[in-house]
Amino acid sequence: MTRTHWLFGDQLGPAFLAADDHGPSRDAPVVMVESRAVFRRRRFHRAKAHLILSAMRHRASELGDRVTYVRADTYREGLRRAVGGGPVTVHQPTSRAALALVRSLDNVTVLPPRGFLVRQEDFAAWARGRRALRMEAFYRHVRRDHDLLMEGGGPVGGTWNLDHENREPPPRGARTLGTAAPYRPREDSIDDEVRRDLDRWEHDGDVSFVGRDGPRLFPADRREARTALRRFLRHRLSGFGAHEDAMLSGDDTLSHSLLSSSLNLGLLDPVECVEGAEAAWRAGEAPLNSVEGFVRQIAGWREYVWQLYWHFGEDYRKSNVLGHTASLPDWWNDLDADAVSARCLATVLRQVRDTGWTHHIPRLMVLGSYALQRGWDPAAVTDWFHRCFVDGYDWVMLPNVVGMSQFADGGRMTTKPYTSGGAYIDRMSDLCPPCAYRPNRRVGEDACPFTAGYWSFLHRHRGLLEHNARTSRAVHGLGRLKDLDALLRQERGRGEGPP
Ligand code: FAD
Ligand code: SF4
Repeated sequence: MTRTHWLFGDQLGPAFLAADDHGPSRDAPVVMVESRAVFRRRRFHRAKAHLILSAMRHRASELGDRVTYVRADTYREGLRRAVGGGPVTVHQPTSRAALALVRSLDNVTVLPPRGFLVRQEDFAAWARGRRALRMEAFYRHVRRDHDLLMEGGGPVGGTWNLDHENREPPPRGARTLGTAAPYRPREDSIDDEVRRDLDRWEHDGDVSFVGRDGPRLFPADRREARTALRRFLRHRLSGFGAHEDAMLSGDDTLSHSLLSSSLNLGLLDPVECVEGAEAAWRAGEAPLNSVEGFVRQIAGWREYVWQLYWHFGEDYRKSNVLGHTASLPDWWNDLDADAVSARCLATVLRQVRDTGWTHHIPRLMVLGSYALQRGWDPAAVTDWFHRCFVDGYDWVMLPNVVGMSQFADGGRMTTKPYTSGGAYIDRMSDLCPPCAYRPNRRVGEDACPFTAGYWSFLHRHRGLLEHNARTSRAVHGLGRLKDLDALLRQERGRGEGPP
């Protein structure tokens, strides 16, 4: 009997229908389930809801008669309506909850996951016997194993990691980097239909969204995603490296690829991204620091995060080593950027409100750092990132937020908490000079909330951080602060309001 193949909403590229040894049977009928309950349960960014529904409906339109597209309350109900009790195959879904669901259903065969370079069993073999699972060691393993940027058994150019070349502040006086604009898609009738449906759901009071619903900014089908990749490789990759960590008030995207949502929807495969970047370097079209930096993001960080999600187990999401329990304030939950005076935070929150995306450093060193300094509950912070970012999924959020950004796992993923005072933001951006606060002020009316928050955070956790080789010097710096008592009093008196 022919088995129907089930595609989840983040399994939309050709790899998920490839009829190879571990794929569905050739020409298998396809089922897709659009579950409204997913959107009813949590308050997602409207641009994210739009992107996912648009991408699913674009895929269904490409598959034509081959697909049964069901709109149902739940996946379980949708599947029953589409196939009754018939046999079904599905590639391993990307969340623990979805995997538990498909495993609980009769007649569903789970095939290996797609969309990543490294198989889970290969990661397990690499991890076996290691005390610490550090990204850098894993990345080198992936480079060797996949023959990426390799020459004569070693890394091309003799160095594995060119990060030291990729931490440049923005060019002095520049408002933008001047990189060619990223690809932006043109909406079509499927987007019109999605927008009408979302309007109706909101109007019915059934579902509530956060964020603005501008024109769709990210690819919703394979053709658009490939165009976005081509444009990045041809026009933006060469500038990717040097200013990767910079922030500019007039340039949200700098030279970043904006490919995360396409990769995470399954529209792009990581192989074509890293091979395309390597080919650009070999053709002399992009410098090695940019190409290595980009390859490290995908073959290193993205793969590492995916593997850690499964490796660390279900309880990882409850990690809270720092004992942070404060809830997120309303202005943050509502993405109310206009209520915020701190220019860095207002700028980044506005980007999130308007697009559902910012690049890595604003996520880590502005949003995540602010949440960490204020002692917000890491599970609530994870949920916020998941709901508000177009590229957010359970697998990618847990390690990035619980581990990298909130240090709630006590260092299983990173060697130190990522947070800083205003001096870092000042060095890496043009945001501070017109701000109401001064990055070098710890106490007083114009004290920078990041600088004061940084010292207060170090003080609160000094017992833990003074034993960490990467933070002990900073903790000892507390002893030199003559205004520490005043700073701590000021921070205790800080309400929940926006800075
Ligand atoms: P680029 O800077 O162009 O990088 C290229 C690609 O590398 C990205 O598209 C992405 O696929 C991959 N990548 C780089 N770093 C990571 C990483 N740490 N984890 C996973 N993939 C990575 N990434 C997501 O895909 N979804 C998320 O929900 C997400 N949430 C994050 C939350 C926090 C607090 C932090 C610190 C990072 C998060 N990241 C997330 C990682 C990273 O910030 C984004 O992948 C990146 O900013 C997306 O923009 P881009 O496509 O232009 O990336
Ligand atoms: Fe942000 Fe502080 Fe700089 Fe203002 S002074 S932009 S709050 S880092």
